[in-house]
Amino acid sequence: MEDCLFCKIAAGQIPSRKVYEDEQIFAFHDINPARPVHLLVIPKQHITSLASASDADLPVLGRMLAIANRLASEQGSPDGFRLIINTGTIGHQEVQHLHAHIVGGPDPVGPMLKRT
Ligand code: 5GP
Ligand code: ZN
Repeated sequence: MEDCLFCKIAAGQIPSRKVYEDEQIFAFHDINPARPVHLLVIPKQHITSLASASDADLPVLGRMLAIANRLASEQGSPDGFRLIINTGTIGHQEVQHLHAHIVGGPDPVGPMLKRT
């Protein structure tokens, strides 16, 4: 998709710190890490958000989960992690290309949900 930041990152048109790539999936370091380990896993194919994914996308969604689990271990969070998929306005999704955040590191990530 034209003018999509993560499509351009997946295509190598915008540089990123890549940690994994296959035919369907691309994974890279978040530019503004919230924790010592903060990676993003995306489908190469443009899917705007989890809310717009269809049954045809189930294989790539499953693959994202499996690769996220593997990358968390390999990239410095072997004892657990959070996988976060911000979705839509309510979910504060800023980049309109489906992505899963892998957040972890040596210390517990702490409370994710807080009442405001
Ligand atoms: P969202 O709020 O959409 O779930 O999170 C988008 C994430 O993308 C943010 O954590 C942000 O730091 C990251 N991000 C935004 N632009 C870039 C970029 O150009 N390169 C990389 N590597 N990460 C980015
Ligand atoms: Zn895209």
